[in-house]
Amino acid sequence: MLTRAELRKGWCPGALAPMPAKDGLLVRLRISGGIVSADALAALARAGRDLGNGLFDLSSRGNLQLRGVSPTRLPLLHARLEDLGLLDADAGTEAVRNVLVSPLCGLEAPIDVGAIGKALEAELIRAYDLRGLPGKFGFLIDDGGPLSLAHTPADIRFDYDRRRGHFAIGVGGAAGEAICLGACEPEALVDIALRLARAFRRLGGEMLEPPRRMRDLLRQQGPKPLVAAAGLNLTPAPKGELAAEPCPVGLIALGDDTFCFGVGAPFGRFTAPMLEAAARAAALFAHGDIRLTPWRALIFPRVDARSEDAMRAAFAAQDFILDKDDPRLAVAACGGADACERGSTPTHADALALAPLARRLRGTGVALHVSGCAKGCARQSATPYALVANGGRYDLAIDAASLDPNRATYLAKGLSLTMAQDMLEGLLEEMLDPIAQKNAQQAERNSP
Ligand code: SF4
Repeated sequence: MLTRAELRKGWCPGALAPMPAKDGLLVRLRISGGIVSADALAALARAGRDLGNGLFDLSSRGNLQLRGVSPTRLPLLHARLEDLGLLDADAGTEAVRNVLVSPLCGLEAPIDVGAIGKALEAELIRAYDLRGLPGKFGFLIDDGGPLSLAHTPADIRFDYDRRRGHFAIGVGGAAGEAICLGACEPEALVDIALRLARAFRRLGGEMLEPPRRMRDLLRQQGPKPLVAAAGLNLTPAPKGELAAEPCPVGLIALGDDTFCFGVGAPFGRFTAPMLEAAARAAALFAHGDIRLTPWRALIFPRVDARSEDAMRAAFAAQDFILDKDDPRLAVAACGGADACERGSTPTHADALALAPLARRLRGTGVALHVSGCAKGCARQSATPYALVANGGRYDLAIDAASLDPNRATYLAKGLSLTMAQDMLEGLLEEMLDPIAQKNAQQAERNSP
C-alpha cells in the first residue's frame, strides 16, 4: 500500500507500475497516439470485467485506466495486455513516453502530429538518461486542428500555428499560461523536446529540492537558464490565439465532408458494457477506429453524417453523454471517498447534484471541479469554481488550476454540501443581479 507521502509526491501509475487505490489496483494504459481499435477496446472491456471491477476511467491526459484489479490477477492482465501489444518492455519505458498528441491527428490538420509523437516516444525510450524524469512530466503536440489541446497542461508543449506554419514551443502549463520560448519547424521538434527535458533534469538536479514539474523550475529560475542549458538559440515568438476548450460530443464537422462522432462519459467513468457498445459502434460506423481524448470523451472518426441517428440509437442504452448541453459536462470530479484513500466525500454524487447549478454558473466547459482532496487529480486546468474535500466537508476555491491552499484563492472553508450549494447559488444571483454587481464594484473601489 502506498503511503500518503508517496501519493503526494506525484505517483503516476502505469500498467507495470499500478497504483493501489481503495477499490483495488489502478492500471493505467498509455496507448500510443490515443488510437485504439474496436477489437482492442472490446478485449480491454473483457479484461476489466474478468480481472478488475469492470470500471474504467479516461484520464485528463487521455489515458485509459482499469480499476479494481486484484494483485493476484495482475499477471493475467499483463498477459492479455501483451497479446494486445499494449504492454511496454519495463516500467521505465512506460513512464517516460508520456506524450499526448491531438486526438484527431492525421484526419484534418495540415500536419500529422501522430507520426511526430511516435518519433518522440521512440527517442524517449532510447534515452536512458531521461528515465529519471518525474512521473507526471509530460509532453504535448497539438496539430492546430479544430479540437485544440490549448487548455491541456504539459511540461513541454508544441502548438502548431497554422498561419505561420511552425510550432510554438511552450514550457510549464496550458498554452495560455506556458512560457513561449520560440518557434520551430516540425523536423526540429523531437530534438528540441529532448534537449529541454535534459536541461530540466540537469538544472533540477542542482536544486536543493528537485522540482517535479517544469513550472516549479520556472518559478524559481525563469526560462533563460533552461534555454541556455538546452543549448538552444531561440527567438521569442508571439503566442497564437487561444482556442476554446473543446466539447467533442455529438456530430463533429471537420470540413470537406469529414465527420466524427463523440460520446462523453460522466467524469470520464466508463463501464465494461459502455466500452463494448463503443467497440461495436466503431466497427459499424467508424472503420474500427476509436480516439481517446483528454476531454472525458471517445471520438469515432470518419463517420457518415447520415448515420447520426443510428449512432445515437446505438449509444442510447448506456450512460453516455451525447449532447453538448448535458449539465454533467459542467462538472469534473475524481473518484473521491469511494475510490481513493485520500478522499473523504462522495465526489461523483455531490458533483451530479450540483451539475445543473454549475451549468448556470458558466454556460460552456467545466464550471465546477469537485475534488476529493487538494491534489486535484480530475482536472489540471483552471476552473471557475472548485469544491475541495477536507475531512468530509468542502472548501470553495475560485479560478483555481492548482488547489494547493498556498496558491489558490479560497472563499470559504468547512462547508457541507448544502452550504456549498447555497453559496454557489448566492454567487450566481450576484452574477445575474446587475445592481448587486454594481454595489460590489463600488465597495471594491471604496476599499482601502
Ligand atoms: S484528488 Fe481525488 S483521486 Fe486524487 S488523491 Fe485526492 S481524493 Fe484521491
